[in-house]
Amino acid sequence: FTTDSYPEIKRDPRFSQITPEHVAYFRDLLGKDSALVDGVTADVSADDMEPYNGDWMRKYRGHCKLVLKPTSTEEVSQILKYCNDNMLAVVPQGGNTGLVGGSVPVFDEIVISMSRMNHIRSFDEVSGVLVVDAGVVLEVADQFLAEKGYLFPLDLGAKGSCQIGGNVSTNAGGLRLLRYGSLHGNVLGLQAVLPDGTIVDDLCTLRKNNTGYDLKQLFIGGEGTIGMITAVSVQCPQRGKAVNVAFLGADSFEKIQLAFREAKSQLSEILSAFELMDSYSQDMVHRVRQNKRPLDGEYPFYCLIETTGSNSEHDAEKLEKFLEDVMSKDIIADGVLAQDETQIKSLWSQREGITECVGHFGGTYKYDVSIPLKDLYRLVDDTRERIEAAGLKGDTDEFPVVEVVGYGHMGDCNLHLNVAVRRYDKRVEKVLEPFVYEWIGKINGSISAEHGIGIAKRKYLGFSRNDTIIGLMKQIKKLYDPNGIMNPYKYI
Ligand code: FAD
Repeated sequence: FTTDSYPEIKRDPRFSQITPEHVAYFRDLLGKDSALVDGVTADVSADDMEPYNGDWMRKYRGHCKLVLKPTSTEEVSQILKYCNDNMLAVVPQGGNTGLVGGSVPVFDEIVISMSRMNHIRSFDEVSGVLVVDAGVVLEVADQFLAEKGYLFPLDLGAKGSCQIGGNVSTNAGGLRLLRYGSLHGNVLGLQAVLPDGTIVDDLCTLRKNNTGYDLKQLFIGGEGTIGMITAVSVQCPQRGKAVNVAFLGADSFEKIQLAFREAKSQLSEILSAFELMDSYSQDMVHRVRQNKRPLDGEYPFYCLIETTGSNSEHDAEKLEKFLEDVMSKDIIADGVLAQDETQIKSLWSQREGITECVGHFGGTYKYDVSIPLKDLYRLVDDTRERIEAAGLKGDTDEFPVVEVVGYGHMGDCNLHLNVAVRRYDKRVEKVLEPFVYEWIGKINGSISAEHGIGIAKRKYLGFSRNDTIIGLMKQIKKLYDPNGIMNPYKYI
């Protein structure tokens, strides 16, 4: 996609074009290295701007000419105040791993990159409360916590690049939500800057704080539309000393559901992840990586089960017993238990590597949705059927679609429906949309389980939210950002 793919979106004429005077202001404020400019003073090439203008999926492209890299909340405040006073539209950008086109500009909005706000501010080893700058990379925070015996309550495939500010702004779910819950519960406080430069200091480190409206919740999942998050305090759990992983194959989705039920009942308090993968997604991983498959046989469905506890022997025994039980009941056809850290990583990469392998062929149409469990996989079958009926899927270059795959966080009723394509194609898009959203709307699912709305889903919010709620959202946006400079053309 490019902006041209959205003919209904026009550049808002209220927004100013960037001038040399604006650039001079930012360079004076931040220093030359922290204000990358293309076109205005011509000292940075379009190639240097590329990482800020293109998204992870190579699907959305902006035309930003100015990237600002503040190093403090005060600098963010001065930037936003100036932008608001001068009607300059901005896009907050974290690790730019978002999957709904929210982190890249649509036209020439200024990118405010948080990459230089990357300090761990404090950690309380007794309470487990971590306070970090918004630009700290998730994996860096988790490694820091690992040394202290703690864990960041969020984990996802993009952990090496995504930032905690981006995670909070998208209310990322990920692999540990089943066990540790969502960021709406784990974020204790945050510091944010409103478009007029006001610093909202709510870096509370307390678990209990019932003193009026919980305004931080609006920033969690706010996708940079009402302000910029500059710091976050998070409640972090103790890191389980014993992690065990099993990889199982099953003959049907019904059997995977039975296995999930058994896992909850038999593994209960140590169950930390239950991930679903269909054979199509695993074929993709195999096709791209040419690696050895975890199981000897091939099955229509697979699941990865992780347990995290405090006693390795006891947990391994429990998982082993569970595996024996589900195999003896013919729920699971085959399974393997990781024997060491390397095998744990290798089994996880079968799941975490799907996103990258599916995108390997050119691009991916991605739908990250919540569906009641019993219907979860039906959407993948129905979508594949439609794509095949339209004659769009095949093995040779003339067909845009390579495969339709389904996987996801089964424990959270969260399906990733991915359509791997050789190139983005309007015909494919027409078959997929609004079909997918209508399908979800009919069964009261959610059109966005994790990734947010961004530009990708803005037209479809009505399939998951009623008019009253959308009306209230618009009022909130107007209250916080009356000039509409924060991440325009997206969300609502
Ligand atoms: P960006 O992509 O830079 O930004 C995302 C949105 O947040 C944008 O709207 C941006 O404007 C806004 N934003 C960023 N920083 C700030 C800030 N400081 N203040 C205000 N607004 C801000 N997501 C999941 O939920 N679960 C998964 O399991 C998951 N797996 C993934 C696997 C892969 C391989 C990839 C590529 C992505 C995955 N994602 C997943 C999506 C993505 O990683 C998450 O949405 C992540 O939280 C985005 O963080 P980021 O720092 O990259 O944010």
